Amino acid sequence: MSDLSTEPPPDATASSSHAAARPGSPLRPGTPPRAGDLAAMRQALSVAERALVTGDVPVGALVLDASGNELSRACNEREASGDPTAHAEVLALRRAAAALGAWRLAGCTLVVTLEPCTMCAGALVLARVDRVVFGAWDPKAGAAGSLWDVVRDRRLNHRPEVLGGVLEEPCAELLDRFFAAHR
Ligand SMILES: [Zn+2]
Repeated sequence: MSDLSTEPPPDATASSSHAAARPGSPLRPGTPPRAGDLAAMRQALSVAERALVTGDVPVGALVLDASGNELSRACNEREASGDPTAHAEVLALRRAAAALGAWRLAGCTLVVTLEPCTMCAGALVLARVDRVVFGAWDPKAGAAGSLWDVVRDRRLNHRPEVLGGVLEEPCAELLDRFFAAHR
């Protein structure tokens, strides 16, 4: 359902140049991409689309272990569950911790289609994930390099690596279509 025709080829960097090409893009795109980031983001996009069934904002997240194997996946379920904290990232972190039998997700990567908000940025710092990879920037509420940078705040004792703008266009288009239809 999502139109992935505009995505960059697999060897494209995810990238400051891409982010910088969009007006208003933030200045902190983060660390270089790794093998598997694009494939994981495609999965997160397909998870995001499930949120549409319940009228939830289409955001999807995966947690990968240190070897790149998927531990969990979740879409935003605020409407589905009536829970203000049921963001895709929080649900994916909870499920990953349940799968591992431990709250500490050291070595793991959180992949999410939208820049995390303050709550989710706080949650992924508390979960001690190594990396966060996200798709669309969120200049109005993002806390991983645009409005705030909670995940790289030097006052915190754990700072994950951050990579923003991976498959940014299809991630943003999915959200834009949702909000256009709900306006
Ligand atoms: Zn959030």
